[in-house]
Amino acid sequence: MHRPSSMANQQNNISTIITSTKPINDENYYKATWAHRAWFATGCTAVLISLAKSILIISKMPPAPKTCLHLTLAAALGYLLADLVSGIYHWAVDNYGSAATPIFGSQIESFRAHHQHPSEITKCETAGILYTLAAVTAAAVTPVNVFSGDPVLLAFVGVFAGCSMFSIKFHAWAHVPRKRLPAVVAALQDAGILMRLSQHAPHHRPPYNSNYCTVSGIWNRVLDETKVLAAVEAALYRVTGVRPRSWSEPISEWTPRTQMLDEMKPASF
Ligand SMILES: [Zn+2]
Ligand SMILES: [Zn+2]
Repeated sequence: MHRPSSMANQQNNISTIITSTKPINDENYYKATWAHRAWFATGCTAVLISLAKSILIISKMPPAPKTCLHLTLAAALGYLLADLVSGIYHWAVDNYGSAATPIFGSQIESFRAHHQHPSEITKCETAGILYTLAAVTAAAVTPVNVFSGDPVLLAFVGVFAGCSMFSIKFHAWAHVPRKRLPAVVAALQDAGILMRLSQHAPHHRPPYNSNYCTVSGIWNRVLDETKVLAAVEAALYRVTGVRPRSWSEPISEWTPRTQMLDEMKPASF
């Protein structure tokens, strides 16, 4: 099998998976291109530089409990905020835009395909599903790495950017059968640090407009119970006339076409 050599091939494969009623047998769809891998490596490098620079600066400072407390709080805030941002991002690409949308077009189509074939994400190479967020991460984090010497800010940026970038991988792990998960990932899911399948499954059930957050899922209850995203959708509709895709349910775009794990099926399946 040859690998797709261009973004056009990737887009064709994405179109194939969207229109298919069966799981995709073309293994090219699941492979990342070398460009994807390069962007993924760039994003990871930017995150690691933030964390390494923070540690390096701290190591040269006299020991101070207050600094350790600030670092811990910064890391916790970065982790918590990343979950909220992952939910807002997921909501946005699920509901707005198309394949023609600049930068995020392939992500929008991939998320739409994910609703039709929920388990296929588990077969995708990591760089192939993270490269867009990795590129955004590299562009946003690099200036901070270059110009900031504040270890607390660097720790926050490193954790926030890392968790945000990997939110799609955390999402993919939620779809992996538990016996196939790496032990450390299963342990993190058990500890509630990463989102579990049971937390994510309602997102794949009608009306397909809840549980968008995919890092820890801790913000899902807040967003769903306050209906803040629904309020934003209504406001955007009043201002722009654009309807979010979730209002069009039930339509084939949202209906799973391939078998989901038993835990993900609604009782009526
Ligand atoms: Zn979704
Ligand atoms: Zn999912």
